[in-house]
Amino acid sequence: MQTVTGNRALMLEEPLLFEIGSTEQTGVDFPEFKANAGRLGDLERHRGIGLAGLSEPEAVRHYTRLSRQNYAIDLGLFPLGSCTMKHNPRLNEKVARLPGFADAHPLQPIDSVQGALELIDLVGNWLTTLTGMPAVAMSPKAGAHGELCGLLCIRAALEARGDAREVVLVPESAHGTNPATAAFAGYRVENIPANKAGRVDLEALKTRLGPDVAAVMITNPNTCGLFEPDMKAISDAVHAAGAFVYCDGANFNAIVGKVRPGDLGVDAMHINLHKTFSTPHGGGGPGAGPVVLSAALAPFAPLPFVEKQGDRFVLVEEETAEEHHAQSFGRMVAFHGQMGMFTRAASYMLSHGSDGLRQVAEDAVLNANYILRSLEDLLDAPFGPSGPCMHEALFSDRGFGEGLSTLDLAKALIDEGFHPMTMYFPLVVHGAMLVEPTETESRASLDQFIAAFRSIAERAKAGDERLKAAPVYAPRRRLDETLAARKPVLVYKDAEPAQAAE
Ligand SMILES: *Cc1c(COP(=O)(O)O)cnc(C)c1O
Repeated sequence: MQTVTGNRALMLEEPLLFEIGSTEQTGVDFPEFKANAGRLGDLERHRGIGLAGLSEPEAVRHYTRLSRQNYAIDLGLFPLGSCTMKHNPRLNEKVARLPGFADAHPLQPIDSVQGALELIDLVGNWLTTLTGMPAVAMSPKAGAHGELCGLLCIRAALEARGDAREVVLVPESAHGTNPATAAFAGYRVENIPANKAGRVDLEALKTRLGPDVAAVMITNPNTCGLFEPDMKAISDAVHAAGAFVYCDGANFNAIVGKVRPGDLGVDAMHINLHKTFSTPHGGGGPGAGPVVLSAALAPFAPLPFVEKQGDRFVLVEEETAEEHHAQSFGRMVAFHGQMGMFTRAASYMLSHGSDGLRQVAEDAVLNANYILRSLEDLLDAPFGPSGPCMHEALFSDRGFGEGLSTLDLAKALIDEGFHPMTMYFPLVVHGAMLVEPTETESRASLDQFIAAFRSIAERAKAGDERLKAAPVYAPRRRLDETLAARKPVLVYKDAEPAQAAE
């Protein structure tokens, strides 16, 4: 039934700002404007800027209504695989808002931000300890940025020994950022195949290694949710060929406190603080992707970095003649990184302690296996038979009724009030469904999710055509996603165009 307003109970329709207000009206009453002689000459604007005028309550309602249309980790289970969408403890938020951290300015005198620098150093120490690596670059601002940092360190190390190499090897199952980063850093990307158990094919890798290979990028646990048991053998082979091992550490949540990547021969690994250490992510929110580095790469770390000199913390901003500052590959960011993410991560680390972090990994793996084992009688789990998974459970669309796809199942999950799982990734599995519950979900919430998932999977297998119409209860149904991606409408058509530069 269509309502007059378009609202559905308390789900409110929300028009665009331009449809609520108009460019002809303002939200505030100003006295009549007395034009003074302009002093801008030709630079003066002659037309309106095309913004709709809204009163304060109109503007507040607009954004509040939009915010209610968002699905968030604080609303329900967020099963996106490869994302570690765990609960963000409120304690983190409290700490991040302490004025000494929140109000610090990046250009403040170093003596006035000793506490902030100490906190960055503290988080860095936890990261090097947890990973068993000697050094860390704290400034990269996301996982992908950390990958770039790691590859630039590798390139600098190779250049320092006069060894120009051109190729970076990446497994088929890798996150898209891995090949993108390698290409961005100027390397040619080649794929390494996976074996039947969803792991890197060690023999194929060894065969490909040679004097043109600069690095191998490996994700461990990998994006099939599986631990790479041959990691040490891989590292040894890569090092013997004169190359470096980059590990994508986005899935560190599954092994934190259990495995130290440094012991596995990793040279560089980014850590998504916003995944493993529970800082908010998604929607373009700030992240942080510190990179831990081996002794071989540490000298090439980017500036700036925090260093303890006596009982004082300094921010090393420039290369100096001092040996360990001389070879930095340069600077990736204007300042030192995301202070708010560091404070949240520090709060998370200190409140869990080392034993608590180990339990995080254990519980995350337990929850993922609970999902895997609760669904594998119904859904094809291609790597299920090869043993337990790590932090995420992977299913394929095998056995779905004619014409039904992973997309249909995902849309039906929306009707059940869940954000869909990651779909069609990793690419090595047909119609992939990647579910990562994280450790912060209770048994009851997992059971509810499993019950919903099972009922939809049963309908998919029985060929229930009605799935193609899902979601039926959402304010918007099926969108033309291809059209939206190819021809996005980003400008309101009736808005007065901003004055073109002449
Ligand atoms: C999330 C993720 C990345 C990228 O991290 P961002 O912080 O989003 O840039 C890279 N690799 C894997 C496996 C990931 O899950």
